[in-house]
Amino acid sequence: MSHGKAGCSDSGAEDGANRMFVRRGCGMGSPSRQWSEFYRTAEGVEKPMIIVLKPNHEEEDLHKIVRRLEDLGLRAHISKGEQRTIVGAIGDERVLRDVPMESFPGVESVLPILKPYKLVSREFKRENTIIQVNGIQIGGSHIHVFAGPCAVESREVLEEIAEAVAPAGVHFLRGGAFKPRTSPYSFQGWGEKGLKFLAGVRERTGLLVVTELMDPRDTVLVCKYADVIQIGTRNMANFRLLTEVGNIDKPVILKRGMCATVTEFLMSAEYILAQGNDKVILCERGIRTFENETRNTLDLSAVPLLKQLTHLPVIVDPSHAVGRADLVPAMAKASIAAGADGLLIEVHVRPEEALSDGPQSLRPQVFYKMMDECRLIAEAVGRTL
Ligand code: PEP
Ligand code: MN
Repeated sequence: MSHGKAGCSDSGAEDGANRMFVRRGCGMGSPSRQWSEFYRTAEGVEKPMIIVLKPNHEEEDLHKIVRRLEDLGLRAHISKGEQRTIVGAIGDERVLRDVPMESFPGVESVLPILKPYKLVSREFKRENTIIQVNGIQIGGSHIHVFAGPCAVESREVLEEIAEAVAPAGVHFLRGGAFKPRTSPYSFQGWGEKGLKFLAGVRERTGLLVVTELMDPRDTVLVCKYADVIQIGTRNMANFRLLTEVGNIDKPVILKRGMCATVTEFLMSAEYILAQGNDKVILCERGIRTFENETRNTLDLSAVPLLKQLTHLPVIVDPSHAVGRADLVPAMAKASIAAGADGLLIEVHVRPEEALSDGPQSLRPQVFYKMMDECRLIAEAVGRTL
């Protein structure tokens, strides 16, 4: 690990972990000294521990913990989220072995930093996280499908699509009102007008709304209409945006960055949980490889791997992974076989007229067949869909 990377945003996962704890360091020494100390610990000379405080802890509890750590010759780095405060105990962790930090008032848990991500890890929470959205559970035994167009195009087309997907057992309508497009000349989405179309269709059909948030400045606006917020692949490492959605009380579908490792992906989820929002759904949506017959390469091994490493629900978006409607059903079935908790599928009533991602959008009839086949796979792995 390079010592010179302190200010970079694309550094390795451990850099990310360390930044989290020095971000709101408690004022010991100069910032550069804190950095270098932390890098030294990350290189294995010392092993930091984290002390996670209960959401309702008293300020005095925190002071007592910091004082105790300092008495033991450790340094305390405090990370204060909206709802959760974490104290990094830096130094020779052996001194903590005989100190029951768990018994201190206000302490929820004490964890050795074995992985750079903490709150998202299975080590932190063994049981699966089940996320409730309007009485619907994501991450339980029922597999949910988030279906709809890439972009919200018009009220009429959105309604047609919603009415087409609803009978297939779908509870969530997806559709972008703010679209991250590679070209500034491509359709960028209708913004608030699109959000209103989504809310109108929810009113008529009862389908819950999943839509993308691209800019922290639009958080209040998008939250006003969305039931689930989507953070797209291009924004997986937009740490300001992650911090922003960490402070809201809505489920977030976090898509894996197209060039992100699994660890980096989990570090991004950690940003959201560190602020107090633990309703995060991870979405594997394909990564960039040398292969160019498909839009991306679906990293299906990431599904069982993520299920091992984290307690968060994991869904798969085969549409953006392959970029071709003819390959989507096979990869959707494979995703369920691999253990996915849900699917995100682009569906359009007339893909040839779609304003974005037409080639990967399923026609309703193909979608129905896919759903029927996925149900059989779900049953084979002891789940429902
Ligand atoms: C989308 O879901 O339409 C989208 C833009 O996805 P991604 O961020 O995975 O490219
Ligand atoms: Mn799309």
